[in-house]
Amino acid sequence: MASFHRPVACPDCGRFAVEDYYYRIGAGYIICQCCGCEVDREAKYDPEKNTSYFAIEKRRGYGKFFLKRKDGTFSSNRLMSPLTDEQFKDFKEKFSNFDVDPENSYLVSYKNGEFETLLGSVPEDFNLSFAEYIEKYGYDCI
Ligand SMILES: [Zn+2]
Repeated sequence: MASFHRPVACPDCGRFAVEDYYYRIGAGYIICQCCGCEVDREAKYDPEKNTSYFAIEKRRGYGKFFLKRKDGTFSSNRLMSPLTDEQFKDFKEKFSNFDVDPENSYLVSYKNGEFETLLGSVPEDFNLSFAEYIEKYGYDCI
């Protein structure tokens, strides 16, 4: 089925997110690269009522762990549950590894609508609201 990617404001944190948008049926799949939330909007059909509707499923995000290595590779993990002490220890250990580029790596938690940087520092664009992001890069930015 035909879809395209379009920029949308994250329904949770309000920052820049990307939706895989199925324009014919209006369905879509949003992933936010800041807070990590996912919203799945599925087009459904109710044969009894002869109507179509959207089934919306939202999975909350709790932040992001982004690790850039000195060789240029990176790994990016969205946190799909609140950060535990154990996870934090694990991330901290990975973060201090010799092959990591700490200037461009970060751990951010997202709780009660607030971001908190726990390790490293986030890129400047991370803190832009959706409107600010679009103003800076335009709608063709993805
Ligand atoms: Zn978000």
